[in-house]
Amino acid sequence: MDLRTVMLLLAIGSFLFGLLLMIFKYKTNPQEVPFWITAKILQGTGSLILYHRTNAFDSLTIMANIVLILGCAYEAWAIRILSGQNVKRQLHIITSVGIILVCYITAFVVEPYRKGLFLLLQSTFYFLPSLFLFRKSGVKFSLHLILAVCYCITGLIFLLNVAVCIVFPAYALSQDGSIMFSIIPLVSFCIFLVSGFIMLMLAKERSDLQLLEIQESLRISETRFQRIVETAIEGILVFDKDYKIIFANENMASMLGYKVDEMLGRAYISFFPENQLEVYYHQESLRKRGEDSVYECRLLTKTGQNRWFLVSAKPIMDDTGGFEGSFAMLTDINERKKMELLLEESNRRLTELSNQDSLTGIANRRCFDATLEHEYSRLSRSNSKLSIILFDIDHFKEYNDYYGHVMGDECLRQIGRVLEDCINKDVDLAARYGGEEFACILPDTDIESAAKIAERILQRIQDLKIEHKASPVSEFVTASFGVTTVKYSPGITPSKIIDMADRLLYQAKASGRNRIEYAEFI
Ligand code: GH3
Ligand code: MG
Ligand code: MG
Repeated sequence: MDLRTVMLLLAIGSFLFGLLLMIFKYKTNPQEVPFWITAKILQGTGSLILYHRTNAFDSLTIMANIVLILGCAYEAWAIRILSGQNVKRQLHIITSVGIILVCYITAFVVEPYRKGLFLLLQSTFYFLPSLFLFRKSGVKFSLHLILAVCYCITGLIFLLNVAVCIVFPAYALSQDGSIMFSIIPLVSFCIFLVSGFIMLMLAKERSDLQLLEIQESLRISETRFQRIVETAIEGILVFDKDYKIIFANENMASMLGYKVDEMLGRAYISFFPENQLEVYYHQESLRKRGEDSVYECRLLTKTGQNRWFLVSAKPIMDDTGGFEGSFAMLTDINERKKMELLLEESNRRLTELSNQDSLTGIANRRCFDATLEHEYSRLSRSNSKLSIILFDIDHFKEYNDYYGHVMGDECLRQIGRVLEDCINKDVDLAARYGGEEFACILPDTDIESAAKIAERILQRIQDLKIEHKASPVSEFVTASFGVTTVKYSPGITPSKIIDMADRLLYQAKASGRNRIEYAEFI
């Protein structure tokens, strides 16, 4: 076989091998492909150029040598990756630039030193992969070791030729193109065949190993996940994209009174009581938009009871961002929620009680003061009027003395009810101001309307016809009224309004009782 045929075979072989690797490796590990392909395409191209130019030396030959040596370098990087090590991006780029520079320098070097330099570079990139492989194989007999030895022998043969060029330059010159240098392409061809075969086997072995490693780590993580799920005190649910349950842990099932099998395949919505469906639909739309959330909801147990859960839910999206299902962690908060509701109710009741007069059931003095404060400050933001009615039962001391305190209390209760009946409870406030004094706050009410309401109360008290034999005013219980109306003014305070109503009430008492005195305080 002559030199040209060898070069041609090398070129065709390299291209075919590159193609083979691309098909084979793309399926298993696409990240490794660039180095292989680069190596084989460069080697193929270099060999093809040299096929045409075995004896000449010009810039095209330099380029062919660059391409060929770059191919060897990339094969070295590919071997490094194959033996499980990394190739830093900068490293292979810097090496490539170095190769190009050294090859161009050879243009200024005379033969046979030029040839020697080329061969030295190539031998370096045969020793390099053997180094990577030796490190990987140690001294164990393996494909790694065989390939390492082959690279080493090739490197040595190249190095031998370098030595001939340097030590015996005259002999090297006379032998140019002869058997001594023909051995180089022949050795290249042999290493190409051997390395090609072994590399394919190694790549297959590595792919199988990686697959096994992946399967093993998958198994480990699956076992770990299983343990976490089994020991979790929370309930765990996994839903498909139609919100059907595809996974439920034991805890979840038992919290709802089911067996795991009974829950699988059921729609999540079927666990929601009707009044919680809004929560379900809202959460479903959030998940489908890819959003997480933590929410509280009630779910139906197998026996139809409601249980409160705190749910922390996350969507599961596929690689393209499409909704694939969701994952939820549920904590039983039924007891806590029950306590919360009880507490809420008793707080509400307490607030109510603290504002209520225990004898009559209407608002007490504290509530009256707070409401008056609030209404008066509201008045400052409007041009409206606020009226106050203050009334006091006439000769109540005598009533108590005559009929006793129990009857006195009953009388107060009846008057409290009358007062409540005579106002609009949505906007006005009826309160027991203290003792046998009552008061009303009438927002947005002018003096005429307030006086009318006072008249109605006075009339209704008379209509009660509560006997009061000890009263010099009437044979029945009566009351005297002070009614006043104010507009907001910085100089008027709520206590001044009360004071005004009190003075009017005093006037009513003074002018014979069982009457109303009213005046605007504007
Ligand atoms: P006047 O017509 O001037 O208002 O005379 P009066 O007797 O109604 O007024 P006075 O302030 O002298 O007496 C008020 C009485 O109201 C004294 C008190 O025993 C009675 N009283 C106050 N609070 C209660 C209560 O909660 N229950 C009962 N039964 N009586 C009460
Ligand atoms: Mg009084
Ligand atoms: Mg009184």
